[in-house]
Amino acid sequence: MKKEILEKLKAKLEKEKENLEKELKSFAKKNPKLKGDWNTKYPEFNRGVGSQGLEDAADEVEEYLNLLPIEANLELRLQLVNSAFEKMKKGKYGRCEKCKKQMSLERLKAYPEAQFCIKCKK
Ligand SMILES: [Zn+2]
Repeated sequence: MKKEILEKLKAKLEKEKENLEKELKSFAKKNPKLKGDWNTKYPEFNRGVGSQGLEDAADEVEEYLNLLPIEANLELRLQLVNSAFEKMKKGKYGRCEKCKKQMSLERLKAYPEAQFCIKCKK
């Protein structure tokens, strides 16, 4: 792979990493004990008691439960981005992890953190 193309993909990945972390930070916090792990913040119930307060609390629990799969998805994407950086460092970037063939540039441009080529992904 040409160096300038690699640099472009790297810049794209860096941007993506930034965005993913920003998104995660908005509702989750990093797990200090486990690298790459994020935890969705549990809503704080400090709006007082009473029926209104309980209803708010129920909404917050629902919101929390809705956020969990989003957090898992963002976390997974972030892990893929980080592993793409690792592969770049080792000079193994762009290879399908299943068939070991070099992925097409179109695939990498559309999805620079791809683990598998289009064939293997199916
Ligand atoms: Zn493949």
